[in-house]
Amino acid sequence: MTDVSQLQFRPPAIPDVELRGFWGERADAVASTTVHILLDRCAEAGMFEQIDPTRPVPRQRLPFHRKEGKEPTVTTQMFWDSDVAKALEAAAYAIHRKPDPALEARVDEIVDMFAALQREDGYCNSWYLRMQPGREWTNLRDCHELYCAGHLIEAAVAYHQATGKRKFLDVMIRYADLIERRFGPGADQMQGYCGHEEIELALIKLGRETGEQRYLDLAKFFIDVRGRKPHYFDLEAERRGASPDGFVHGTHEYSQSHLPVREQTRVVGHAVRAMYLYCGMADVATEFHDNSLTEPLEMLWSDLTERQMYVTGGIGPEEHNEGFSDPYHLPNETAYAETCAAIALAFWASRMLGRGPNRVYADVMETAFLNGALSGLSVEGDRFFYENPLESGGCHHRWEWHRCPCCPPNIARAVTSIGTYMYGVADDALAVHLYGANRATFTLGGGRVSIEQETEYPWDGRVVLKIGTETPRRFALSLRLPGWCANPSVSVGGEAVDLSSASRSGYVTIDREWSHGDSVTLDLPMAVTALRADPRIRADRGRTALTRGPLVYCMEETDNDTPLDTILLDGGFERAEISKMEELGGAVAIRVPVGKETHKGWGRALYKAAPPRVETVLGIFVPYFLWDNRDPGEMLVWIRTR
Ligand SMILES: [Zn+2]
Repeated sequence: MTDVSQLQFRPPAIPDVELRGFWGERADAVASTTVHILLDRCAEAGMFEQIDPTRPVPRQRLPFHRKEGKEPTVTTQMFWDSDVAKALEAAAYAIHRKPDPALEARVDEIVDMFAALQREDGYCNSWYLRMQPGREWTNLRDCHELYCAGHLIEAAVAYHQATGKRKFLDVMIRYADLIERRFGPGADQMQGYCGHEEIELALIKLGRETGEQRYLDLAKFFIDVRGRKPHYFDLEAERRGASPDGFVHGTHEYSQSHLPVREQTRVVGHAVRAMYLYCGMADVATEFHDNSLTEPLEMLWSDLTERQMYVTGGIGPEEHNEGFSDPYHLPNETAYAETCAAIALAFWASRMLGRGPNRVYADVMETAFLNGALSGLSVEGDRFFYENPLESGGCHHRWEWHRCPCCPPNIARAVTSIGTYMYGVADDALAVHLYGANRATFTLGGGRVSIEQETEYPWDGRVVLKIGTETPRRFALSLRLPGWCANPSVSVGGEAVDLSSASRSGYVTIDREWSHGDSVTLDLPMAVTALRADPRIRADRGRTALTRGPLVYCMEETDNDTPLDTILLDGGFERAEISKMEELGGAVAIRVPVGKETHKGWGRALYKAAPPRVETVLGIFVPYFLWDNRDPGEMLVWIRTR
């Protein structure tokens, strides 16, 4: 029997998974609409003028952020390379999904710009080569330099996987080689790291793509050196003649560099930065069998998911630091819950599965992808949320663009690459973490094996997996039994699997010789479930959120009488009816009788000793990720409950 907890599970490559069904429709919207919007907006913003060395050096379009008594070091224009990179990464996946010669030519043109921009020694950052030449590597704390490098590396790996073209990858390999020479433990090297994590996980991707161990070693170096004393960012500030106290965000908790990573137990600071750091830590734990990272990662995971996470998988309630505050402080209407942060949580969760299947992580990955992240993209793929509140009085709407355009390309690349998060591949073991119609091929047990998922998931919980293989092959197939499902059942070739003996950490593992045409059927009954929150979450006291399967539901003004906060839930969910909403692409809506406080018969008095009359009306709930795709209006997730 294979002990799947001792293996190293890595994501499949983009060409290995062909999305169909639910995710296929969304990937098509991104491929046909979103990626074109992304590249157009990058052009309108002037980003390519900054990158392209054949054009005159442009003026600075976005001013430095200024704050009394603080060092004015940052303009979002400094990290334009990352916006372009994420757009290119999404475009790479789009081109793989749907051949588009015009789009591919456009990407090649941008790749050529980066190749022409690249300095002889490999350095490749448009801000420092064109706008502030000679200042590179002087402010790692604020200026996103290695962050931009990381996103470019991810884009280059994606484009190589999607098209087989090497030019972008070779440019980024030269850049990574420069970074490897400049950063490291040697006396003539810099012992610094980026204020915005990302390079770590990108180097892991580059190491896996090229088979070069030294990129994995460099990722580990950045993880190991973070937060050591004396603090690199303070020394660096002094070197450029500035006071460390001039740091605009005040505390190194902002960038999770307040302590060495192995001493960190609380999730703090900027949410996306935190998640990307933990991604890197989990990747290093997988690649190096580094058990010293296990306990900190598990403690950070508990702190986040047991105290600081919205029911949607949204994270980071605060706007001022785009991140975390106090435990259980999860306001709904003012939730910042940046789309990028929910995506980044899903990324971290996926990497926590590197050392073996565990439902604790995969359930959260699914929650974040399907709710708090996917809400950031409209059905048509043409409008976006940056903040993802769980309550709206009617004034929160999708943007056509955003002043800080990080979220649109991030959700575009996440949706089009979701197939790589669905599976974990080890030498002779395969884990299925996410369900959704697709066809995937893997190298398992020394040969090629295909898996076809036939399902309406997430609208329906029946999943049929069909195995394809030229010759019979032995491998361990682990299937997630979602925590939301009270009574899952699994059968192989029509024969029921005894889940009590075959499951561990929320996965059922079937280790056997598989033949062509074998099939596994999962039945994951989806009941409407009423969730209550820990009473320490003030905003949710006395309230209920409805879920069905992996989806969190909300009420919208367009379907219901307002104000939504006069609605009262009163059980009766066993009588809930589900129906398909054609105007929302066949999404499953929940209809259930609810109470509604009315002012009918109340009279003119503003205050009275008697409660208002309660009428019974039909409450209609739709998946949270679909809100604000129809008529604008109020939205509410947590409903008052009698
Ligand atoms: Zn964002």
